[in-house]
Amino acid sequence: MAFRGKRSRFPRFKSKRRSRASAEYTRSAFRYADGRLVLAKMTEPLDIVWSRPLPADVVPSTVTVSRDSAGRWFVSLLCEDTPAPMPVTTKAVGIDAGLMALVALSTGERVTNPRHERRDRERLVRAQRSLARKEKGSKNRAKARVRVARIHARIADRRRDHLHKLTTRLVRENQTLVIEDLTVRNMLKNHKLARAINDVAWRELRTMMEYKTAWYGRELITVDRWFPSTRLCSACGALAETMPLNVREWTGGNCGTTHDRDENAALNLLAAGLAVTAWGTDARPQRESSSRSGRSVLKQEAPPATVGIPSP
Ligand SMILES: [Zn+2]
Repeated sequence: MAFRGKRSRFPRFKSKRRSRASAEYTRSAFRYADGRLVLAKMTEPLDIVWSRPLPADVVPSTVTVSRDSAGRWFVSLLCEDTPAPMPVTTKAVGIDAGLMALVALSTGERVTNPRHERRDRERLVRAQRSLARKEKGSKNRAKARVRVARIHARIADRRRDHLHKLTTRLVRENQTLVIEDLTVRNMLKNHKLARAINDVAWRELRTMMEYKTAWYGRELITVDRWFPSTRLCSACGALAETMPLNVREWTGGNCGTTHDRDENAALNLLAAGLAVTAWGTDARPQRESSSRSGRSVLKQEAPPATVGIPSP
């Protein structure tokens, strides 16, 4: 992993001429928690560009800091523990980026944003306004800028913590996880939607689910974003013509079942994901939304959404 920052904070090596210099830190000479690494005699964590994240329950036993001949710095972490395998389960879950909640699950559960998020955001708006009023180049402006940055960092930290807990739980509880391939650009086109859905949170959530499912031998299925998950009746498979964003609850005209919008979408995602695994890898939706084959398979051949939904 490469890292960047001020030179003065990094260890000094005895020989500057050696092509690759390195220093080793044993357990007592560093602190590591939640992806932050603080070396002995340093007060701030290193600004690390991770090549890949470390599993949450793994603590490195040795840290090696090195500098190559090009003057680039690297940190490598030696870990003795591998993530403990999670108990085998046959459960599957559909996860929908909800309109009101952060996510809605096919189990009917909704997960909201972190508790402090709204208040933090209000504080952020106030701090930004105050910054805008300060005279350019003034000391007060510099102070105001630091305040804005601190609030930003706190929001990000709390959100990440929240998402880590959520994704670890979802991966622990389920063998198969199905999500929709939402692209951020598309969500931002609609401002109402952009307000309701935290696109950054969704992207982070997806990344976490990608590597956690890989660590623990779970399966993540991405369903093409053209799949009409919100308009499809999860009870009978009938397709509603339109589904305006303000509709929270709707009744299928064919079978008369009343749906919660987000839960229905999560149920459809789950069914579509399970259907494509049952058909084998050829039918699996591609990770790239540009894939035509994935799109057409789901559009034309998706069976009624009741197929494969496990009883709760
Ligand atoms: Zn129906």
